[in-house]
Amino acid sequence: MEEKYELIRKLKEEKNAVILAHYYVAPEIQKIADYIGDSFYLSKLAVSLDNPVIVFCGVEFMGESAKLLNPDKTVLLPEPTADCPMAHMVTKKVVDDAKAKYDDLAVVCYINSTAEIKSWSDVCVTSANAAKIVAALPNKNILFIPDRNLAHFVASKVPDKHFIYNEGYCPRHEFMSAQEILDEKTKHPEAKILVHPECNPDIIKIADYIGSTSGIINYAKEHPEYKEFIIGTVYGVIYKLEEERPDAAFYFPATMPICINMNKITLDHVINVLKTGENSVFLPPEEIAKAANATLTKMLELAK
Ligand code: SF4
Repeated sequence: MEEKYELIRKLKEEKNAVILAHYYVAPEIQKIADYIGDSFYLSKLAVSLDNPVIVFCGVEFMGESAKLLNPDKTVLLPEPTADCPMAHMVTKKVVDDAKAKYDDLAVVCYINSTAEIKSWSDVCVTSANAAKIVAALPNKNILFIPDRNLAHFVASKVPDKHFIYNEGYCPRHEFMSAQEILDEKTKHPEAKILVHPECNPDIIKIADYIGSTSGIINYAKEHPEYKEFIIGTVYGVIYKLEEERPDAAFYFPATMPICINMNKITLDHVINVLKTGENSVFLPPEEIAKAANATLTKMLELAK
């Protein structure tokens, strides 16, 4: 393992590359990353970095967003088959039907979506900033795509808006079992339940805290008075949680929530793209790239 880390460090220096990793990738990948974060943090960061090469250890839409925001940089995806199923879970018909029905509709698109889906939308959001951005929109009617669970969570925070929902979901969070979380609570009654808003409503109901991956990590960090936490999101987050709170214990549902796509990325994949420059992300057709970029830029402006 150490030899691989050494080789990655050397290649990174040679290519003047920066490695970005999402919290959900395997711990050994997070260990070699220059920056670890959620979609919001990484998308903002990608704009401010000087390195001409970005190795994005995450799923396809993340690399695509980084490329849209940094069209002149080389963005490399270590494993191009690592894709997020939710990123595709809405059709143009859903958007067109809602636009036909509501005059003042705003189409709000979770960053976990393809560039094409972003291009149908007015503004992009992440789980960390969605409520703030929706509240700032002048529109009363909000079509929130593609994630239904996040849409319901945001609607509960912005009750003066009317939401139209779409049947998309993250399989990892949708099929997480509330009973398995309650089983952990029975075993560890003092533990606080921290969950991601992509979770199904049965889990949201029993949570002590609901927030993005960064939000969950910050909650654990900012509450040293609690020593045990039950985590309702993807297991990869353990790397940062244990780094921030080495004194605390973290429990996950018995059916371990691992994102198979994020987990496809290996150190060998990272070495390969650094060596060969393979799997470079290309911009989508100009019309789509322009419209998708506008939704991301609007998000960064509204989230300031
Ligand atoms: S955890 Fe869910 S939303 Fe995130 S990349 Fe995996 S499938 Fe997509």
